[in-house]
Amino acid sequence: MEQGTLADLLENIQGGHRMNAKEALALFRTRGRQVWDIAAAADEVRKERAGEAVTYVRNQNINVTNICVNACGFCGYSRKRGEEGAYFHDRAMIRKKAALARKRQVTEICTVSGLHPDFTAQSYVDVYTWIREAAPGVHLHASNPMEVAYAARKSGLSTVQVLEMMKEAGLNSMCGTAAEILVDSVRKKICRQKIPTKEWIRIITEAHGLGIPTTATIMYGHLETYGDWVRHLSILRDIQDETGGFTELVPLSFIHMNTPLYKAGLARAGATGREDLLMVAVGRLFLDNFRNIQVSWVKEGIKLAQLGLIAGANDLGGTMFEESISKGAGARNTDYLDPAEMERVARDIGRPLRRRTTLYELLPD
Ligand code: SF4
Repeated sequence: MEQGTLADLLENIQGGHRMNAKEALALFRTRGRQVWDIAAAADEVRKERAGEAVTYVRNQNINVTNICVNACGFCGYSRKRGEEGAYFHDRAMIRKKAALARKRQVTEICTVSGLHPDFTAQSYVDVYTWIREAAPGVHLHASNPMEVAYAARKSGLSTVQVLEMMKEAGLNSMCGTAAEILVDSVRKKICRQKIPTKEWIRIITEAHGLGIPTTATIMYGHLETYGDWVRHLSILRDIQDETGGFTELVPLSFIHMNTPLYKAGLARAGATGREDLLMVAVGRLFLDNFRNIQVSWVKEGIKLAQLGLIAGANDLGGTMFEESISKGAGARNTDYLDPAEMERVARDIGRPLRRRTTLYELLPD
């Protein structure tokens, strides 16, 4: 893009212009030092919309099982029943993990799992109940539209009925995962057994309608195009206009190493650093109705995550304590990030670190 055109566009966006798809595509195609101009504009918008604090949540993952009826091409986590490395945590183990999480003073327990062949809607309710019993008062951030659709299908219920059951059992917010790329031609190649775009949108909207907020995600860096990124972000922006139910955007950079898609030569080796920064920066500028943009240290590593914090992001995600999905795909050092290290990273860019709840209320340190 011509330097003058880019400068004008960025100035207009900062002045309140709502970016269109063509403009977003042009920004994603930017190379060279213009990337820094986009990051700087996004950082300004971040400052206005979300303030100076770098936030994080003290959370713990409990992934109940990696046994899954699906076989998504980007997934290095799932196993078939009986396969080496397959696991299933029973009630006692889930309660033990939840109790440990409480002892660690987490404010959020996060649980997403494989689609176990024996699961029904009641299975999700049971898991939530066990977690609730062992860790009362902790925010339960769980499931995603794929799990809701699966539970509904297995139990002969509507997805609204399943969401109501989940809410009744203690679900406080839902993960906006299983979105991957919300373009069906891409979904057919990377996760053809997953719900189509239309169904993902419907279930997310239903959740928001029932007062269940969700995150929004995008999983990028495999075989999709920049045009697909723009289509995906447009869908998220439209939903947010309608419901206001998204708490944040969490860009998920594809971890390729152990995935069938990469091993079969069908996907590239993940996004580049330029693309990771642009996803944060253009995400910030395009999603003018989102307050929070997260950088995932699990996916990007702490050094690139830190750069994301000066390219439009305001949140570092969670401490984790236990992580297995990115690890399964080949990522390293994903289990725990000490808030002391987050503090060091935030201070290094001249910003304060603040602990938050899942819904972004600031907590005393
Ligand atoms: S991404 Fe989820 S649904 Fe797909 S194979 Fe992995 S665990 Fe199963």
